[in-house]
Amino acid sequence: MLDIPNDFFRGQPHPVFSVVVPAFNEAPGLARFHARLRAVMQSLGPWEVVYVDDGSTDGTAAVLTALRRDDPQVAVVRLSRNFGKEIATTAGLDHARGDAVIVIDADLQDPPEVIPALTQAWRNGFDMVTARRRARAGETWFKRATAHLFYTIMSHTGRVRLPMDTGDFRLMSRRVVDAVGQLRERHRFMKGLFAWVGYPTTEILYDRAPRCAGASKWNYWRLWNLALEGITSFTTVPLTFATYLGLVVALLSVIYGAQVVVKTLILGNAVAGYPSLMTVILFLGGVQLMTLGVLGEYLGRVFNETKNRPLYLIERYEPCEAAMELAR
Ligand code: UDP
Ligand code: MG
Repeated sequence: MLDIPNDFFRGQPHPVFSVVVPAFNEAPGLARFHARLRAVMQSLGPWEVVYVDDGSTDGTAAVLTALRRDDPQVAVVRLSRNFGKEIATTAGLDHARGDAVIVIDADLQDPPEVIPALTQAWRNGFDMVTARRRARAGETWFKRATAHLFYTIMSHTGRVRLPMDTGDFRLMSRRVVDAVGQLRERHRFMKGLFAWVGYPTTEILYDRAPRCAGASKWNYWRLWNLALEGITSFTTVPLTFATYLGLVVALLSVIYGAQVVVKTLILGNAVAGYPSLMTVILFLGGVQLMTLGVLGEYLGRVFNETKNRPLYLIERYEPCEAAMELAR
């Protein structure tokens, strides 16, 4: 495997831009995506694009091979299996050598035509330029409402501020990419990691388009898990919440217990109270299971991190021809 150092392009007369594109089963739209990306990037100067084939099972691998054959700017990283978008993006960042790196989805929901605005902000001195969605075309009110709820929870509990309505579509300077590359945790909530890094950040607005081909891999169950990931990776507030919930329930039980004792003393014991007994038992059982579950979520993450496995395995890495030319 060709070893290309991080600062490979440093010392070039013009800054080199890298575009990182995670792709999982994107065969139908990839050629169209690349044509549009190419048109934009050619006008910006030297560039490369790192496609990460996240263990696709359709024709994505073949499409990428063809793209790379026809275009010296294309590098392809093929992962050994599907690792998920977050890790695929990380793999792409690890193999991007540019002075500034742009992360973009392969489904044309993030229009490549926005990239010049990102690079312009970078030239103006910002390390991180996020693209914020002006309108969420093709999304249901339910998805918008739940997304809003998530951002509200995160911004009130976490230490890092997550930008609202912002996906992974963004530009990062070399030092930000290097910093993110140092965060090797398995549970990768990228938006949070990007925010954790800090550095001068700005945002530009754009209109998000509906997906051009194929289907979104995000159903509500995956979104829910992403939200869990975000919360448990960046705040321990649920643990605190569990403690206080326990306190409140215990307090209420003491009051209820006192009431039962007083009532029995005054009115005698008529062996009533089966329904209330059941209610209390079931309620307390529920609370206990829930708090145990919260503990378990965190413990599970500790478990996964301590195994210290590599984030991903690469089946094949093909650097772009342009870089190989330089290396010779
Ligand atoms: N993706 C990936 N691995 C996965 C799922 C998705 O690399 O396991 C890529 C996908 O090919 C696309 C991007 O991540 O380029 C965003 O995925 P998708 O469009 O399904 O998400 P959405 O736009 O609905 O958030
Ligand atoms: Mg999409």
